[in-house]
Amino acid sequence: MHDLIIRNGTIVDGSGLPRYRADVGIAKGKIAAIGRINERAKEVIDAEGHIVAPGIIDAHTHMDAQVFWDPLGTCSCWHGITSVVMGNCGFSLAPCAEKDKLLVMRNLERAEDIAPEAMEAGIKWAWKTFPQYLDAVDKTPKGINYTAYIGHSALRTYVMGERAFTDEATPKDLTAMQREVRSAIRAGAIGFTTSRTRNHQTPDGQPVASRLANWDEVRQLVGVMGEEGAGVFEIAAEDTGLDPERVRDYQNRLKALAIDSGVPVTFGMFSAHRAPDHWRQYFALADETAAAGGRMFIQVHSRALNIVLSFETVMPFDKLPVWRDIRKLPLAEQEAALRNPDIRRKLVEATHEPQERRRSVGPEPRSANFKWLFLMDRATPPYRSVAEIADERGKDPVETIIDLALEEHMKQFFLQPLFNQNQEHVLEMMRNPRSVVTFSDSGAHVSQIMDSSLQSHLLSYCVREKQAVTLEDAMRMLSFIPAYQWGLTGRGLLREGYAADAIVFDPDTVGPMMPHLDHDLPAGARRLKQKAAGLMATVVNGEVVLRNNEHTGALPGKLLRGPLARR
Ligand SMILES: [Zn+2]
Repeated sequence: MHDLIIRNGTIVDGSGLPRYRADVGIAKGKIAAIGRINERAKEVIDAEGHIVAPGIIDAHTHMDAQVFWDPLGTCSCWHGITSVVMGNCGFSLAPCAEKDKLLVMRNLERAEDIAPEAMEAGIKWAWKTFPQYLDAVDKTPKGINYTAYIGHSALRTYVMGERAFTDEATPKDLTAMQREVRSAIRAGAIGFTTSRTRNHQTPDGQPVASRLANWDEVRQLVGVMGEEGAGVFEIAAEDTGLDPERVRDYQNRLKALAIDSGVPVTFGMFSAHRAPDHWRQYFALADETAAAGGRMFIQVHSRALNIVLSFETVMPFDKLPVWRDIRKLPLAEQEAALRNPDIRRKLVEATHEPQERRRSVGPEPRSANFKWLFLMDRATPPYRSVAEIADERGKDPVETIIDLALEEHMKQFFLQPLFNQNQEHVLEMMRNPRSVVTFSDSGAHVSQIMDSSLQSHLLSYCVREKQAVTLEDAMRMLSFIPAYQWGLTGRGLLREGYAADAIVFDPDTVGPMMPHLDHDLPAGARRLKQKAAGLMATVVNGEVVLRNNEHTGALPGKLLRGPLARR
């Protein structure tokens, strides 16, 4: 007798093989049978007209804090994600004693846009070491599966205290850090992560702790994983700019690290319109590394990396003095002000005065170029630019923005693409065999971007609307490839004996819905929320967690420990 049978669906099994019609029988959390199943089950899902596919794995999230107040892993779970990797870019919450938690939160607050009030209110700090953090996650009820890296910024802060933000590590510091990495990997950390990008700053504009490390420190910490024979190394890339010599120097170090340590190296890559082909040399690097005996795979996105702007969150003009005064008012009063012709005129004029150049970091708004600022009036492209709409209306672009916002009672979103403006490049990167489609940053940048939907976007936009990717290839990109690259054995495919993580969806309607702003984080902190349409059921470890994207009450998610803890 099966616990659950998904009947009459079309199987897309995650391997890239062509679809076929079959039932899926599930028992004891695993896939027990695929085929024509005549037995009975405690629970049956009729998937007629639907696709049955493996649950999606998102390998680039920052759910480290959120897991303690949101067991479901929203918004990712609403887009078919059944397993996430957290602790990316050096930002984990362990190792760290409770008394030092403000230091770790300092690493996270600006770099990842997670409100310290939310972390303060939502986390019961029950750990000091990384193994203890894993135990805390293990004990927490979960809707989906989680696996975690140990992050360099936390590690450095744990060992060096305040010096982590100013100093190079001493030999003693380094030994202590290596010891922690070793015990983390043995306890089941999926790997070790770091950040060397200037996009990762503390609220007072200082680099996060990992950025103070020299390359030798990074090498020695990754080397521990090599000795242990387990773990993946993720890096938020060094700022080389476009200087070919610095790029080459960085690439040589990465390549040597992968070859010397034997540890798989991974990082995210985007195309940028100021240097449209820069990304290509990183794919060439991954090929060269493989040829020389190392392993490297590249995390890519399924669309433009958009900053989501609105009067409810941030707008590009907020720092201008006239704007600042209005923008600190409650939203209803801002709306009234924007309807006042005098104030309106002043606001528009202020944007025409020469502006002092500010450096934005990460997904903070850039100064507005109206050709590259889009009206988000639907969940997937095409979008019209503000410049285009202003032309149509014969108005100033800033007036147009104000009008558009007022037409939606201040709830209008605008998109400012930071990277991946060229959709052809996006497709080319996704199709590269050294790519993994991931990088939602889910759990972070919660009021700045809304990329938990990048996977459902692939299914709706790239597969259905553009027919640029087959559904079979898309599911392979989203399930088997990340499962394989991160070593999540027994997941990522619909196969007998595999964990029963599965999604049932309508290929004609699946896709992201419009986002909205909510204040449902602990302490009432705000975040963008986005659901998806077309998902009939989401199954994790054999239990239905979401039906029509509503929580059933089940919490079957697990902590997935790395290979050394599974032996
Ligand atoms: Zn990240």
